[in-house]
Amino acid sequence: MKLLWTLLIGVTLFSTASAQLTPPNETAMSRFLRYVKIDTQSAEDQPTVPSTKKQCDLARLLERELDDIIMLDVKVSENCIVYAMMPGNLPDNSKVPTIGFIAHMDTSPAVSGANVNAIIHKNYQGGDIVLPNDKTQVITVAQNPDLKNLIGDDIITADGTTLLGSDDKSGIAEIMTMLDILKQNPNIKHGNIAIAFTPDEEVGGPMDQFDIKGWGAKFAYTVDGEQLGDISNETWSARTATVTFHGKSTHPGTAKGILVNSSYAAGDFLSRFPNMVPNRPETTEGREGFLHPYVGTLDVETSTVKILLRNFDIAGLAAQEDAVKKVMAETQKKYPNVNIEYKSELGYLNMKEVLKDYPQLTDYAIEASKRAGITAELRPIRGGTDGSRLTTRGLPTPNLFTGGHNFHGKLEFNSRKGLEKSTETLVNLVQIWAEKGK
Ligand SMILES: [Zn+2]
Repeated sequence: MKLLWTLLIGVTLFSTASAQLTPPNETAMSRFLRYVKIDTQSAEDQPTVPSTKKQCDLARLLERELDDIIMLDVKVSENCIVYAMMPGNLPDNSKVPTIGFIAHMDTSPAVSGANVNAIIHKNYQGGDIVLPNDKTQVITVAQNPDLKNLIGDDIITADGTTLLGSDDKSGIAEIMTMLDILKQNPNIKHGNIAIAFTPDEEVGGPMDQFDIKGWGAKFAYTVDGEQLGDISNETWSARTATVTFHGKSTHPGTAKGILVNSSYAAGDFLSRFPNMVPNRPETTEGREGFLHPYVGTLDVETSTVKILLRNFDIAGLAAQEDAVKKVMAETQKKYPNVNIEYKSELGYLNMKEVLKDYPQLTDYAIEASKRAGITAELRPIRGGTDGSRLTTRGLPTPNLFTGGHNFHGKLEFNSRKGLEKSTETLVNLVQIWAEKGK
């Protein structure tokens, strides 16, 4: 039954797209449903890479599947980055740059990714989608206008108790299916294709240890975006600030005049944000940056608040640091006995600074989308990707859509068309690079 269904999906895609193509051995949908079952949630502030060992379970599965597609140089690094290479089939592969594709294996620490129960809402006919195991979780048309474009599609959600893991197992399924299609269809001409699947993207990732040279790609794409057509060559510049409040702990029974409770100062600091910092995630969109206190610890002796600083422009990031320090100064006035300390760390820089010199990367991706019947648009990402770090390190890496929506939450979804059209775009893209290289 499942086999027949799989085959039908494959035929549907390729009868409309290009009648002469042999369908892949396995559809993107079928691969996706297998990958989301594997819990790969990453964790913040771990000393090890990857932050959780379970991510390596998916790495090893992908290693086996890549071996089955007969890729070259398949390997899993010490920190569970999967690398592989599909050699080109051109008379002279050196005339076309090696193009890399990257997707990440981990899912967000924000919501559980264990025991994901994917639900397929077949032949969606419009309206809000109530998730069956927690009826308070509703994907509304009002908040998801793209649902209007998915009438008749099969929508995939979680059951309301976990995230789905479309971010970024959609990207993995689409890349794997692209390779499968290329293997089944040697008539599709392409240069060398480098593949990498990474752990810990959601927590800052091991991209400083990514072996750019050994991998061999001259340009790359992360396949980690959202709705069909969204292509990005611009991300935030990102810093994370940690504000630490040092108090003084002692036995509460004999604490009079001695104890200084740092948690009051941390509370005061946080309570000032809504008044003093107008740009927060809940009040901004488009190209507006924000400050976002997102995690902290409370203790008598030491309390901390961590804050995300996000801005498309580097000068804006500096202004945001000043804004945090202003809030700190107010709290310091009120709690003179608490020693308040500020530290911040640069996460990544807006990749536009580099990508503006390589417009062909996104031009070809827009053309590849068009050939798949998708109208693509360049949109800045209000987030970062593995590509932000790689671009900063010298490997230009814009981001492509996966068809997914509502990342990092229980309302995450993708669809059959989302997976298939994204896959088709990748297949078109490697052909366009080959055409341009002639
Ligand atoms: Zn992602």
